[in-house]
Amino acid sequence: MSAPHVLISGGGIAGIATALQLVRGGIRTTVVERAPEPRPGGQAVDLRGASREAAERMGLMPGIDAHRLHEKGMVYVDGHGRPYGRMPVALFDGRGAVADVEIARGDLNRVLLDALAAAAAEAPGLLSLRYGDRIEALAQDDAGLEVRFGSGGAERFDAVLGADGVHSATRRLAFGPEERFATRLGGYAAFFTMPTPAGIEDGWFSMRIVPRAMLGIRPDRDPATAKAMLTLRVGHDAALRGDRAAQEALIRRLLADAGWQAPAVLAAMGDAADFYFDELARVDVPDVANGRVALVGDAGYCGTPLSGMGTAMALVGAYVLAGELVDAHAEDVPAALARYARRIEPFIADGKKIPFGSLERAVPRTSTGAALGRLTTRIMLSRPLRPLMQRAFAENATDALPLPVAGSDAALATA
Ligand SMILES: Cc1cc2nc3c(=O)[nH]c(=O)nc-3n(C[C@H](O)[C@H](O)[C@H](O)COP(=O)(O)OP(=O)(O)OC[C@H]3O[C@@H](n4cnc5c(N)ncnc54)[C@H](O)[C@@H]3O)c2cc1C
Repeated sequence: MSAPHVLISGGGIAGIATALQLVRGGIRTTVVERAPEPRPGGQAVDLRGASREAAERMGLMPGIDAHRLHEKGMVYVDGHGRPYGRMPVALFDGRGAVADVEIARGDLNRVLLDALAAAAAEAPGLLSLRYGDRIEALAQDDAGLEVRFGSGGAERFDAVLGADGVHSATRRLAFGPEERFATRLGGYAAFFTMPTPAGIEDGWFSMRIVPRAMLGIRPDRDPATAKAMLTLRVGHDAALRGDRAAQEALIRRLLADAGWQAPAVLAAMGDAADFYFDELARVDVPDVANGRVALVGDAGYCGTPLSGMGTAMALVGAYVLAGELVDAHAEDVPAALARYARRIEPFIADGKKIPFGSLERAVPRTSTGAALGRLTTRIMLSRPLRPLMQRAFAENATDALPLPVAGSDAALATA
């Protein structure tokens, strides 16, 4: 009976968090990430409820606190930058649009990578972290998996974990084609870093809603920069995949008459080194374990950036998955992965909910719809109706479920 050798595809939040816990648990772990180096970027991600507890148990909170964003809340603005509704963090008890623990996605990835480097230094020989490589093919047999890599060469592993995001190659190879599991929600999201424009309210997440587009500007840790966040309501266009010029052209078209800070956002977009653009697609995989392969994070249960829970689910998934694997021998891997799939299921259902409905409700199609949306927001966030909104946010919160804890978790918890 030997400890398993685990391969993780994808070095994002889910992949690095899983690797961290496995290495700490004494498991030999290989990570392959397609990008040539860690991918920076991404706007603020929320840590609430179970994901915060997972971060605490993984000993990540000191690192997170050092990079924490201190947002005051969200403010809705019109085409001239005039506020018409506010949602302060304190009034919504950290359960409104802005949570009390917010960290930029790239910073969280850095915190995880630093923790992984420290864990690997204490356990030499356990971690192999390879950038610029990917899984090309995999085949399961009774005793393990044979994996062929894009860089050439083949190796055997006891488990393969797909943490390679919404368009997961692991999912395609071991579960089936993307169309079977991904549902397009009728839009796209884009994120990038920009210089903080003049006239933006310090510390507030400012939001402008126009027909077919939602434009947000969020504060960064560095006051000189801010994060632009775009949600676009347009149908699927295959030509947009991987074509940055076409993606930028679409954004320019939709923001042409947006007013406010749209010109500054568009001016910064072309130079953004961390420009991220993807279709809004929900991923539903009925069983995220298939023999010796399991999916974690967006690869298995993406709820889209609209859910606001992608990173939270990735952290909880990584924690639970690693918890099941650290006690397993190579022979027990399928049973351990099946247990992970069962334990994570309630979170998958809960975390994929889109607060207050859908893209259609969040982003209007016409200027009349946008005007009506502004009026409704103004009324709903007015002082007399605040208690109603506070209750609605508390009821819509996707942070109610406790972190599932297994026997081995206690051994892994560092905090
Ligand atoms: C650069 C970037 C910026 C993002 N910004 C935001 C944001 O601002 N707001 C938001 O809500 N969500 C954002 N996301 C998505 C968010 O990170 C996830 O929803 C969430 O954190 C779950 O993480 P994940 O690790 O499952 O997926 P991801 O963070 O998408 O990570 C998947 C990783 O797998 C790698 N990968 C993909 N295919 C392969 C392959 N075939 N082989 C090997 N590696 C592969 C990718 O390069 C990536 O590093 C961003 C993702 C990325 C990569």
